[in-house]
Amino acid sequence: MKVLMNAGPWLPVPPDGYGGIENIVATLVPPLRELGVEVVLASVGTSTLAVEELVSVFPEGQFRQLQRPYNQVNGVVPAHQHAVVRAVRERSDIDLVHDHVEAAGLATLAALGPDDPPVLHTLHWDLLKHPELYGTFDGGGRVWVNGVSADQVARAPEALRAHAVGHVHLATPLAEGADQRRPPEKGGHVVILGRITPGKGQDLGVRLAHRYGFDLVLAGPVGPYHSPADLAAVSTSDNPDVAYFRERVEPYVDGWRVRWLGTVRPPARDDLVAGARAVLAPLRWSEPGGTFVVEALALGTPVVGLAKGCLPELVDHGRTGFLTEDEEELPDLLEAAAKLDPAESMREAAARFTPAVMAARYLELYRQVVASASSD
Ligand code: UDP
Repeated sequence: MKVLMNAGPWLPVPPDGYGGIENIVATLVPPLRELGVEVVLASVGTSTLAVEELVSVFPEGQFRQLQRPYNQVNGVVPAHQHAVVRAVRERSDIDLVHDHVEAAGLATLAALGPDDPPVLHTLHWDLLKHPELYGTFDGGGRVWVNGVSADQVARAPEALRAHAVGHVHLATPLAEGADQRRPPEKGGHVVILGRITPGKGQDLGVRLAHRYGFDLVLAGPVGPYHSPADLAAVSTSDNPDVAYFRERVEPYVDGWRVRWLGTVRPPARDDLVAGARAVLAPLRWSEPGGTFVVEALALGTPVVGLAKGCLPELVDHGRTGFLTEDEEELPDLLEAAAKLDPAESMREAAARFTPAVMAARYLELYRQVVASASSD
């Protein structure tokens, strides 16, 4: 099977640091190729992932454009997507397009005709962000959809759910051989890992840390700012995550009970998470895929959080972490998490969240989509 893997125009694959979708593509492609799938990558010119061929319009990632209002970046996605359509049509050897580009890009691909290969579109984001595009989505009979959790698919607009072929949980290379590694030495701190943004609920985390007296470390960017020094140099910003941080999080960052480190990159990130007694997920939104959850488990750190989004699918309550509907229960659950066996989380990650498991599941979906398309 030959797949055109469309990672979009924003960042190279693998990304240099931040890059959710590009990281997932970088994790998925090597084990897919080991399963015999040939991969043509549609990305930007600076991508270095080993594939059969690279298709690109933009020599470099267009990520900076994303900091501009959405209507001003509209040209980037169609230019990239049209190149994907052209590449598919210029050749007859593509069996399927696996697309990871947000809503506007999907509209372009939905225009593929009956003689073109089918598309599997993976949902990575908050589906309510572009209801005008997804709410009226018509796959044109050629586009199928998968989510990164069952919850995400269940809550998708009906127009998308009608084309859904299931879900595939996210994976992390850290899960490979996790069951063979020694569980880490634990420190006393709790970590919240991820972008600082209202959906991830850092404001709740910092208040609980002060009220109940536990040490909390926040790792992640605030909007485009990756370090406290970068952010301190900014006086005004119209970025909503900056406003959220300054109003609701920063007043609790005292450098002692609560610390904000900015973005922490591997391997320091992995040491920070492995040494934590728990990763806290005080979510306000329905987390769609939760890379940070599977990473924590792979590193032997239980996850304690609100039972929202994908969390109940990823965390085995009482074994690899604790989930609750009641935010006031979180501090007690953090205490309880210290008594869980980290080896259980590592075994779970090695069984469920490796790149090989994810690739095998995608290959199943590819076969299902190709079979459905050819039976039309
Ligand atoms: N991340 C990181 N350093 C940080 C904060 C986050 O490397 O300081 C990584 C995190 O480990 C994960 C990714 O960024 O791999 C975030 O993906 P996730 O699905 O957890 O959240 P998203 O930001 O996509 O909603």
